[in-house]
Amino acid sequence: MTTPVALVTGAGKGIGKAIAAGLAARGFDVWLGARDRSRGTAAAAEVGGRFVRLDVTSDEEVAAAVRTIGRLDVLVNNAGTNTGGYGLPSREDVASMRQVYETNVFGVVRVTNAFLPLLRESAAGRIVMVSSMRGSLAEPGAWAGRPSMPYSSSKTALNALTAHYAHELADTAIKVNSACPGHVATDFNAFRGTRTPEEGAAEAIRLATLGPDGPTGKSFQDGRELAW
Ligand code: NDP
Repeated sequence: MTTPVALVTGAGKGIGKAIAAGLAARGFDVWLGARDRSRGTAAAAEVGGRFVRLDVTSDEEVAAAVRTIGRLDVLVNNAGTNTGGYGLPSREDVASMRQVYETNVFGVVRVTNAFLPLLRESAAGRIVMVSSMRGSLAEPGAWAGRPSMPYSSSKTALNALTAHYAHELADTAIKVNSACPGHVATDFNAFRGTRTPEEGAAEAIRLATLGPDGPTGKSFQDGRELAW
């Protein structure tokens, strides 16, 4: 049997690195996409995968990554960013909001569309979006604390992309779902999260390795479907 191939974006650190490690441990040939060569190379060596330079906002780097990787069964769109500000709607400026969307939304479309021809050739293609409960307009507790409009709405859009891709791909073997990792201690929140990256990676790994009868077009946390 051929070894299944996975690509995780933003895998130089945090949850992405833990997802890559988990997939490598499950027998995948894992590519770790990262903007920073030294961080990406070190992470790849640590988890037993391979580094590919991948800024999800760059058409050129995404096209080059498709040529380098050549065959793909699992795509995990993990790379994500926030403005660093409070994200109050009344104080938001379009430029910083656009920056968040460039990575969290348009970057996902760019990477997914570029890799779909490879995923269509797989017998068990899986696409996982690393989203957030913050993107939910319906889940109790999703708006607790101080929601950031750029970040939260980018994840709402990501959940919508998940549904749209799943709809288009419904008559193929490809399943598309989004995973909320929970509140994970990473650079993203100055390590204030309560979960480890490994705990945060678990749902994305589950969705990346779903069997043929698994769901598509849904959003999950800890195995539970989220309303969004
Ligand atoms: P980190 O900041 O540790 O990791 C984010 C990763 O995304 C980094 O590797 C970063 O690369 C990469 N990245 C950012 N912009 C780009 C880009 N343009 N192209 C390629 N890679 C990029 O945070 P987390 O591990 O916590 O975040 C991973 C995902 O999990 C994100 O999508 C985040 O929204 C989501 N999430 C996290 C939660 C948490 O509690 N931590 C909760 C809910 C969701 P670089 O090192 O080069 O900046």
